[in-house]
Amino acid sequence: MTHTFTLIEGDGIGPEVSAAVVRILAAAGVEIEWDRQDAGAVALEQTGETIPPALLESIRRHKVALKGPLATPVGTGHTSANVALRKTLDLYANLRPSRNMPGVPSRYHHVDLIIVRENTEDLYSGLEHEVVPGVVESLKIVTERASTRIARFAFEYARREGRRRVTAVHKANIMKLGDGLFLECVRRVAAGYPDIPFDERIVDALCLDLVVKPETLDVLVLPNLYGDIVSDLCAGLVGGLGVVGSANLGEDAAVFEAVHGSAPDLAGRNLANPTALLLAAIMMLRHVGEGARADLIARALDRVMQSGQVRTRDLGGDASTTEFTDAVCREVGKAT
Ligand code: ATP
Repeated sequence: MTHTFTLIEGDGIGPEVSAAVVRILAAAGVEIEWDRQDAGAVALEQTGETIPPALLESIRRHKVALKGPLATPVGTGHTSANVALRKTLDLYANLRPSRNMPGVPSRYHHVDLIIVRENTEDLYSGLEHEVVPGVVESLKIVTERASTRIARFAFEYARREGRRRVTAVHKANIMKLGDGLFLECVRRVAAGYPDIPFDERIVDALCLDLVVKPETLDVLVLPNLYGDIVSDLCAGLVGGLGVVGSANLGEDAAVFEAVHGSAPDLAGRNLANPTALLLAAIMMLRHVGEGARADLIARALDRVMQSGQVRTRDLGGDASTTEFTDAVCREVGKAT
């Protein structure tokens, strides 16, 4: 069966890591037609919009997109196309697995945890204004609907994947109303899943646990901002930003991407590690029922990582993006 997916190559290292992943998927024999679309700064220049109608129409039609990183200017400039895409398509659940991979250098072992991040509200509401000069108000929006929906997603995920526990992460001791509502919603949903152990952590205490005993944590459900920050920390536990993929899931569409950004320092230098986007693509294949091919690529990737002979610079090696991609394609080829 031939799939058609939207492909957004993205900025910075995006085109290089996207090309690598497209090659590996083809080597594994997955038949995909890519509907290539622009987003972010490139689209803004051409169409006046960071997420043009043609892109939205493409994702709505194909239901699945693979997306390279989109740069977001800091402090000024256009609003984040990443955030706009998640909100417009109501991709309310952001799933970010952090797992030690064989052969990937890390200070930690036995880390296998999943971030389930609420993806549509919180301080990402984009509602900011200057009250008077020198005073800015940023609105943190928390709703019962979105908090309950993400909690349900986390428990359903935990049940389906046979996970050990769900932990709600919050700061309800300080934000008694906002985070209090989030926590209350997760507690209510947890009561409907007596088979899944549930506990709660204040976000600062969770960060301590994450660096001291990360192996004790399993499924973490968090509001948007804590989810974003904690997931970079979790990437650091398993080898860095180059090795963590992510899925943005809604009722009608799904967008798969790397956790990392556009890494402008590496752009165009054939140095980026395509593993994060490849892991996202593996999640994408599972999502569309291509589990066997997903497993095949995951095993090939593991073998390349485990041998340690072909490693990109972020993992302490000297291989280029192309050399690493060639090595994964060779391993995939052996198994097909
Ligand atoms: P953006 O502004 O788009 O968020 P950024 O450079 O600020 O980009 P990231 O791209 O997330 O933030 O990553 C920070 C650094 O981590 C990069 O500058 C790069 O050195 C390293 N890095 C990120 N992704 C990769 C990758 N795939 N391969 C190798 N190194 C990476």
